[in-house]
Amino acid sequence: MSARVLLYWDYELGFGYAGAESRRIAEQEALATDRLLDFLQARGVPATFAVVGACAMLDGPPHHNRSQVARMAEQGHEVASHGWQHERFSALAPDRVEGILRRSRFALEQATGNPVVSFAGPWNSPQRWLARGAFALGEKRRHGALRTDIPVLLRCLRRAGYRTARVYYQPTHLQVLRRMGWRSDYRGPDVLHRNGLTLLRSDFPQGFDVPSVRAFQARISAGRIGVVWGHPWRLLTDSPEAWRFFEPMMDRLCRARDVGQLKFATPRDFDSEAARKPRQRISRSDTFASPPTV
Ligand SMILES: [Zn+2]
Repeated sequence: MSARVLLYWDYELGFGYAGAESRRIAEQEALATDRLLDFLQARGVPATFAVVGACAMLDGPPHHNRSQVARMAEQGHEVASHGWQHERFSALAPDRVEGILRRSRFALEQATGNPVVSFAGPWNSPQRWLARGAFALGEKRRHGALRTDIPVLLRCLRRAGYRTARVYYQPTHLQVLRRMGWRSDYRGPDVLHRNGLTLLRSDFPQGFDVPSVRAFQARISAGRIGVVWGHPWRLLTDSPEAWRFFEPMMDRLCRARDVGQLKFATPRDFDSEAARKPRQRISRSDTFASPPTV
């Protein structure tokens, strides 16, 4: 079986940052996203844009860019939710989480005319999942009370109408062993089904440089699934997410695709219920009668 690659872009137009930095990042993000959309279209690569809902409300630069969000969907990319204003979900009570998820989905469906079924958490939060040994001690230490963990988030997502989620978690004993110098990748499942949701585990090193390329090579040869993510604005920075790493990585992946070693996919491709239905555009007025409140 050929490997599958999911390429997520977290699109947030400066939400999550403050002041002048937020504005600078938002301006870079809009520029980089136009270039990225051209790049993906020229190579026929579908991606997933995990969009902060507030960005899609209207056209008002630099923090709102409904037209750009619409363009993502028009070019065949999947638009997923990345919260409403880039909240840290682990710190929020479940009823508030559910309200934010509904509001974000509504704004994104209005902007794109497509059903929104997928979610990727801002800050990759929450990360606690006790049943899988992930205590998320670092998240608790840095951000205080953990009010929503992964199982609670999944219930909120289900109630708010979502079907897939990108999740990040690390079993605590493996983190401890790694700190002691043990070098091994966690070999948990790539895809899980819980509460009627399909979960795609994100465990790639951040960025597109050597560690990610190595991780892809291992996944391709094993016919597994690789979930990689980045931020459009960081393509313009000197970081592991820079264009100078992204472009050669994509050249390799596209060559592997062209010889049948991998396929590019988006999360809705893994949702068996959605996959059975023909993909439909929705009318911009038939999702909710009025915007849900948070
Ligand atoms: Zn984010």
